[in-house]
Amino acid sequence: MDRAERAFSDLKTHLAEIEDLDRIESLLAWDQQTIMPPKGGAGRAEQLATLTKLIHERLTSEQTGRLLDEAAPFAEGQAYDSFEASLIRVTRRDYEKARRVPTELATEMARLSAQAYPEWVEAKHQADFSRFLPFLEQQLELRRRYIACFEPAESPYDVLLDDFDPGMTTAEVADVFATLREGLKPLVAWVRERADAVDDGLLHGQFPIDQQRQFALAVIERFGYSAEAWRLDPTEHPFASAIGIDDIRLTTRFDESWVNQGLFATMHECGHGLYEHGIDQALDRSPLAEGGSLAMHESQSRTWENIVGRSRPFWRHFFPSFRDTFPEAMEGVDEEAVYRAVNKMQPSLIRVEADELTYNLHIVLRFELEQALLAGDVKPAELPEVWNARMRDDLGIEPPDDGQGVLQDVHWAIGLIGYFPTYALGNLIAAQLHERAQADLPDLEAQWAAGEFGQLRHWHQSHIHRHGRILTTKDLLERIVGGGLSAEPLLRYLRNKVSDLYGEPPATAAA
Ligand code: ZN
Repeated sequence: MDRAERAFSDLKTHLAEIEDLDRIESLLAWDQQTIMPPKGGAGRAEQLATLTKLIHERLTSEQTGRLLDEAAPFAEGQAYDSFEASLIRVTRRDYEKARRVPTELATEMARLSAQAYPEWVEAKHQADFSRFLPFLEQQLELRRRYIACFEPAESPYDVLLDDFDPGMTTAEVADVFATLREGLKPLVAWVRERADAVDDGLLHGQFPIDQQRQFALAVIERFGYSAEAWRLDPTEHPFASAIGIDDIRLTTRFDESWVNQGLFATMHECGHGLYEHGIDQALDRSPLAEGGSLAMHESQSRTWENIVGRSRPFWRHFFPSFRDTFPEAMEGVDEEAVYRAVNKMQPSLIRVEADELTYNLHIVLRFELEQALLAGDVKPAELPEVWNARMRDDLGIEPPDDGQGVLQDVHWAIGLIGYFPTYALGNLIAAQLHERAQADLPDLEAQWAAGEFGQLRHWHQSHIHRHGRILTTKDLLERIVGGGLSAEPLLRYLRNKVSDLYGEPPATAAA
């Protein structure tokens, strides 16, 4: 073993320990949001802070830098997607990004987010934007200081995007979002006039939680969930977390009077779980053993939640057991009525409750406002006015108060600027991938109607999941669809859905 090879082996061990700490942190966070008794909160905050500090110290240590330098020659000449070259490339990136941000700024950002969160909760509750305004102003200031830690990019917003989707640029996202918005606006206006043609009243009623859980579990077991390597637990805000490749924790929330919320949240989180569970075991205990980007992750959750879960063949298979699980609520209801109800489209105020069609306009709005705020083109104090005008223009509705408008999401309160676009990119990428999957697997929908989802899962596992962080969103798209981001597949998918539910829109709306 030469010097470089020995350094690589030491680096691997060093990173494996950091990865262990990272997984332990995830486990503590999962516990905090599921089963921890309320009084455990204070102690847990300290434990999490200690772990975060340990992980940061180890990652940014001189030792990491030295091992990266010494191991570099070992990876030279190895393929871009080899474990060795990828481990060094991805770690070098993480290391340099983490080193550029002074501890003082990182601490200040964490402190402000902790202070702003409860203020945001109150401001939202009271629909009082002025209460939140000073915190938003401070968050923007800290984000500007954060951006200044990095090499100047074409757009300052690039630096923020890069944290969630390595290598993605504002210009690329702006380009596909412009196409998306242009394609969606006339379609949304057309659907708005006839939204009542679809009735989703049957999803409201009495749906006992135990039965909801039993049905949702039966669905995700067909998708790939198994009790040997997964758990499903209740929480307030659903999320998925991986304590290991074979230890996937899904969380969800069932509402007794509204059946689709919990079911679709469970399918959504299962999509995230399948990604983490499908990562190549050879990457375990390394920083490569995670999803490639947030947008790619979201493409997986949206595939199972929307493309599969809101499809006709899905309901062809699951309707009989759905009816048998909720015999009273489903009295006199047929498969077609459920299919239509779970697909109802109508402009609404709240992003997280929006349907597949209108959802993306909520995101494009946030993406553009974030850039305008950072650039100073929109002053934080003007935000509610600009928000409401844009809602009117895009969706034809206006929030009655800021609680249901500009204050609805937690992201800006905790400094997450640049995160929103990943949601719509996930939808967009899911549609791009699905056109490819359909071309590769012509009898896919017949399989779903028979309750078989393994073909689709294997396709995603072999094309995406197994690579972990070895390939970026761009690398994956290039390999799978032979190009970059495109809004067209999502627009095609949504136009088909609209036609199926509401009839053929006129050429002007479908242009
Ligand atoms: Zn998600």
